[in-house]
Amino acid sequence: MQKILIIEDELNIAELERDYLEVNGFESDIATTGEKGLELARMNTYNLILLDLMLPGIDGFELYKRLRQVLDIPILMVTARKEDIDMIRGFDRGADDYIIKPFNPNELVARVKAHISRYDRLIQREQIQNTLQIGSILIQSDSRRVFVNDEEKMFTAKEFDLLKFLVENPNIAFTKEHLMERIWGYDSLGDVNTVTVHIRKIREKIEKDPSNPQFIETIWGVGYRFMKKDRFQ
Ligand code: CA
Repeated sequence: MQKILIIEDELNIAELERDYLEVNGFESDIATTGEKGLELARMNTYNLILLDLMLPGIDGFELYKRLRQVLDIPILMVTARKEDIDMIRGFDRGADDYIIKPFNPNELVARVKAHISRYDRLIQREQIQNTLQIGSILIQSDSRRVFVNDEEKMFTAKEFDLLKFLVENPNIAFTKEHLMERIWGYDSLGDVNTVTVHIRKIREKIEKDPSNPQFIETIWGVGYRFMKKDRFQ
């Protein structure tokens, strides 16, 4: 269930927000002080924060900054002050929005829904961009994990870098010297056989039959090429 953190010192408003969110299928926690809000935000996972800017104790904008240091979920700010709006616009962050008091609770719920789904789409897109799928091989760039037929394979840092480089540059033959430079750096004094050894280890992990590789092809006298056939696309 999607969960909202309501930071609002006026309990009747907080409860009104909670009731409308509940009717619309959201769960919510209420914090009536900024300090409590920060604490809850750190302890739990929320999909969105409703933040009243007029709070006793920590100022709403200060609280906003502290929340932003640890979170990137949407923050919907609630304010009665026109001057706050210019401040909020100044932040220029896609994940932020504001609603003016007094507000129509249905509009509030609609905004909450819109921001959550926008954020979810953003995250999904990032995940797709960070993932490379080639046939049975799945490479997650961010977490540097490799799965073959849904089974995770352990890669050393250089093996991972080498595989990722080849996958990102399919159907191009690279010399061992070039791969050496790309992965180990220009200053590396290494033996190009290091590349051969790494390719062999990668093949053992990704190829069904490492002696008859389907993915990393050896180009005799040149080096290697990652084969990306149409059927993999
Ligand atoms: Ca208030």
